[in-house]
Amino acid sequence: MSSLPAALPQAIVAAMRSVLPAGRCGLHEPEIAGNEWAYVKECLDTGWVSSVGSYVDRIEKDLATYTGAARAVAVVNGTAALHVALHLAGVRAGDEVLMPSLTFVATANAAHYLGAIPHFMDAEPHYLGLDIPKLAAHLDRVAIRKNGHVVNRETGRVIRALVCMHTYGHPVDLDPLVELCAAWGLKLIEDAAESLGSLYKGRHTGNHGLISTLSFNGNKIVTTGGGGAILTNDPALADRAKHLTTTAKQPHKWDFVHDEMGFNYRLPNLNAAMGCAQLEQLPSKLERKRALAASYAAALAGLSGLRFLTEPDFARSNYWLNVMLLDDAALLEPVLDATNAAGLQTRPAWRPMHLLAMHEGCPRMDLSTTEDVAGRLINIPSSPQMAGEP
Ligand SMILES: *Cc1c(COP(=O)(O)O)cnc(C)c1O
Repeated sequence: MSSLPAALPQAIVAAMRSVLPAGRCGLHEPEIAGNEWAYVKECLDTGWVSSVGSYVDRIEKDLATYTGAARAVAVVNGTAALHVALHLAGVRAGDEVLMPSLTFVATANAAHYLGAIPHFMDAEPHYLGLDIPKLAAHLDRVAIRKNGHVVNRETGRVIRALVCMHTYGHPVDLDPLVELCAAWGLKLIEDAAESLGSLYKGRHTGNHGLISTLSFNGNKIVTTGGGGAILTNDPALADRAKHLTTTAKQPHKWDFVHDEMGFNYRLPNLNAAMGCAQLEQLPSKLERKRALAASYAAALAGLSGLRFLTEPDFARSNYWLNVMLLDDAALLEPVLDATNAAGLQTRPAWRPMHLLAMHEGCPRMDLSTTEDVAGRLINIPSSPQMAGEP
């Protein structure tokens, strides 16, 4: 079945409807189907609702076990996790931080909070991750080594760290990226907010750099209402993360002594309780999200004029948000219109970071692929509860 461009929006609606349940379908809705009520009620019954409690300890252990990271530190949201991760990586005012332009604004905001400057990198068009060969060529052109630092020769500023992001749950090709960061001496941070449950060559994302971050926002695969976590395989760094996110208070029976500037970023026990219950359901969510993605792939395969994004062969993706890439950018609005009018919530990519007014003066490489794909990309309903029986 091929379709004329003018008919494509309605053909897409029909294909999506053949996969999805009747009624309105949101983009990614929370699914609360397990022990959430019991665990949250226990917090309410015992009064352990706030910054201390057994569920905070438990979610940190559960996350470490699940991801294979040595340690996890639970925090109030993914943005806070990134803020502290960059701080721990040594990012300071006036430094540049390499990051994708195709990302949620949190990645860039975290750098701003430290007075650092985002330096935007381009995406590759297949899985929307980082274009690593293009980045390598860019660094060869603009970066020099000076006094043990990497310096941007155009701005004179130190490039301290690189944040990669596993876009919509599809892992970046980490092996060559780790190699490139090592060659330049750049600290690697994984913004794994979207990739809980995604594996790179069999190993969970968030294990490949110095430190990485997760988000448990309402639209993520696991939610605590709001929440996040820091992952690291360096126990000393994890201890620092815990200390910094709990106001840098020295343990003492009654004295309040803070040995450095800290953050009040700890995840409340109430939210952690919900997260523990959500994590119990993660394997089932992942299975159903894969089934949904497979159904979409089959239903959309018959349409010419678009590509449904599937996982890279080096990875197993969580399919957090499913993606259609249209061939023709002129059809972006008509498809968004037709799908949303039919009760199927869809949305375009985030406006690329380098096109936001606040980033006008930020350094960047050529971002033509990011601009191209951002003009053709549509996220489609992806909640696990929308999958039929697997
Ligand atoms: C969700 C998300 C975050 C963190 O968001 P919070 O709402 O602060 O938890 C960070 N980066 C990316 C790419 C995200 O998608």
